[in-house]
Amino acid sequence: MKTVRDIPILHNIPVLVRAALNVPVEGGKVMNTYRLRRALPTLEYLRREGARVILASHIGEQGIETLAPVAEALAGMISGVHFCEVSTGEKARAASRDLLPGEILVLENLRRNPGEVGNDREFARALAALADVFVEDSFDTCHRRHASIVSVPEFLPSYAGLLVEEEVRELSKALAPKGLALALIGGAKFSTKEPVLEVLLEHYDKVFVGGALANDFFKAKGYPVGRSLVSGAAGGEIAKMLENPKLVLPVDAQLVTTDLSSRVGAPQDIRADEAALDHGPATAALLADLAKKSKTVLWNGPLGEYEKGFTEATDAVLRAVAESGAYSVIGGGDTVAELERIGLMDRFSFVSTGGGAMLDFLARGTLPGLDALGS
Ligand code: ADP
Ligand code: MG
Repeated sequence: MKTVRDIPILHNIPVLVRAALNVPVEGGKVMNTYRLRRALPTLEYLRREGARVILASHIGEQGIETLAPVAEALAGMISGVHFCEVSTGEKARAASRDLLPGEILVLENLRRNPGEVGNDREFARALAALADVFVEDSFDTCHRRHASIVSVPEFLPSYAGLLVEEEVRELSKALAPKGLALALIGGAKFSTKEPVLEVLLEHYDKVFVGGALANDFFKAKGYPVGRSLVSGAAGGEIAKMLENPKLVLPVDAQLVTTDLSSRVGAPQDIRADEAALDHGPATAALLADLAKKSKTVLWNGPLGEYEKGFTEATDAVLRAVAESGAYSVIGGGDTVAELERIGLMDRFSFVSTGGGAMLDFLARGTLPGLDALGS
């Protein structure tokens, strides 16, 4: 993979960088700068080399949010940052022409133009017209066929940024694990996790299926699931995985009724008015023990409905993995939010910025946004 370091000349060259600046904003203030910090290495490299950096990203899903407060937050982290209220057209061209070597122009939210999500060629051409070179550094959108991800590279020499390079290196390592390897897949929506489960059952020694996903497996086993969240997955695929000796399922659950009284019970003992919202202490202990013995741990998906405070199993196992000394890779928006909340981010070997992108990369070994860069 060609990276920013392979770009032959950068001094005074306009470089379009696709980054992930989609941080949480409330009342015009950036609430969390984690993604911006992960974008800095590429920006700092380009600035040192004297490039004129044109920074493009989306924020939010609706196409109405603005990147203005993000540009302001970025200006507090790196010097020479300007903001442009549009992403294409004469105004954007003039603003990028005015950049001095080492300066950064943050374009407005790409999704304000429907051509971004619609992968419109003309929109991609207009973005590409702002620069001489393209750098892809938005790993977490590389699974999307959006204009800035898959079409801009058709118009410009294109390279991976340092974050994308790191993601690919670390996740590739995770696909060829060393020593006893444990994968933990939790969260919800079986359909989004099924392909990665198939791959992990090949490459890993133990694959734990937890969170709401476990309910689908228990249902396929014929257990009652009460009011637990199930995703209505196709039973055939699960039946096959259930035969795999590498598969590990929870052994107890936090069973909660509508009046919020709760008890710990075996998965098969759930009553009709109960929902399994977390794993119990026996499951947490079993996973902590497995983590301790493992040389590689890969994790995506929380083990309980953590937004409602069902974080006990997740937190206990996160701590066990942090202390295990294993090479640990973790990703997923919800998973990393909980990891950050309990302050263990820097205790993991690699924290992926990808949710869906991480899962797709692990399942397929590449992503549309990486393929678009050529080789
Ligand atoms: P990530 O964003 O880390 O990839 P997912 O989006 O796949 O993770 O899953 C996170 C969601 O799964 C959260 O909303 C969480 O509440 C839910 N979840 C996990 N376990 C349970 C459970 N037992 N019951 C209901 N929801 C659950
Ligand atoms: Mg999620």
